Amino acid sequence: MPRAFDFAGLLAQKKQNNLYRSRKTLQSKQDVLQTVNGKQVLAFCSNDYLGLASHPSLETAFTQAAKQYGLGSGSSHLVNGHHQLHENLENELAQFFGYEACLTYSTGYMANLGVLDAICDKNTTLYQDKLNHASLIDGALLSRAKLKRYPHNEYEKLENWLSVDDGQAMIATDAVFSMDGDLADLTKLSSLAKQHNSLLMIDDAHGVGVLGENGRGTANHFDLSSQDVPIMMGTLGKAFGCSGAFVLASQEIIDYLINFSRTYIYTTAVPPALAFAASKSLELVIQADEQRAHLRKLIVLFKKSAQELGLVLWPSDTAIQPIMIGDSEKAMNISKLLLENGILLTAIREPTVPKNTARLRVTLSASHTEQDVLKLIEMLQGLIKAGLL
Ligand SMILES: *Cc1c(COP(=O)(O)O)cnc(C)c1O
Repeated sequence: MPRAFDFAGLLAQKKQNNLYRSRKTLQSKQDVLQTVNGKQVLAFCSNDYLGLASHPSLETAFTQAAKQYGLGSGSSHLVNGHHQLHENLENELAQFFGYEACLTYSTGYMANLGVLDAICDKNTTLYQDKLNHASLIDGALLSRAKLKRYPHNEYEKLENWLSVDDGQAMIATDAVFSMDGDLADLTKLSSLAKQHNSLLMIDDAHGVGVLGENGRGTANHFDLSSQDVPIMMGTLGKAFGCSGAFVLASQEIIDYLINFSRTYIYTTAVPPALAFAASKSLELVIQADEQRAHLRKLIVLFKKSAQELGLVLWPSDTAIQPIMIGDSEKAMNISKLLLENGILLTAIREPTVPKNTARLRVTLSASHTEQDVLKLIEMLQGLIKAGLL
């Protein structure tokens, strides 16, 4: 006879290991000053790098488009949900990022699943960095490709594999690693991919809007073009302050995805008004050089001050600045103490990050002031003095 599911037991085990997850509730706009669980806090954990999530122009764009075109899209893109506003957004994104074509997806998670599952099958070898985002890993599993994971940002093994493996090969990597903040060496990966006739895809969820000329992302930061990075995924829910994602590639690959990508085909299109807000957001992103310069200043300030406190930081120069803790319970306790003192900084634990590398993932936003950063530093200093950090 089948056995009953042990939900209670598995949840109790999570709790015992300090890995139990629960949600805090946001009651205000997503901004650096926000209300969480009824309490005013200064937040250091959103991915709203340019502070666009609550930008008045995006609110206006969204409501105006909703007024004119309604809210629901009514169906999937291939039935009759593909609106002119989706089409416009795709054309604008393709042009800005320097690609032939673009396809928007409902989320970055679905974009990664949809691209990998459409392109790879059991005869493909799919190479991935060990620290890639869960959605790239899940895409690999869904596609049934032979998944080979190389050590984080070390390409020796990858090079060896590429020189002996045959059959179709694809390499997929985070461009900015989401829990670490460091960059993949895209120059190296692109030359390896070319040399070994492999298809390179980058996930630039944390690079678009933030890095590169006018926010063109990590490939642009490395001076690479669409020839060097044939498939690029970016999200609209982070620096763009909206929701959704896009894939940039040749017209041929985009046509292929429209025909084969199941997470694109079998889901309702996002509201056209959201696509219009994202178009508006692209305009703001292009004009945000001042915000990007301010953000870079905050990153330098944070790193310098944290290092002076003796904190163990990651080799990251991006807005993602994890403070290494190690033990999950300790990370949870520090996060709780910070929250009691009005600072929201979520602890990141396994399985999101490898075992025993629990961390406080600080993310900075152009909406923070230098005073905000110094306030965080002062709190951390207090914890160190009390022997808690
Ligand atoms: C956030 C994120 C995603 C998923 O994007 P969503 O739009 O939130 O689904 C994919 N990859 C990376 C690296 C991310 O950080």
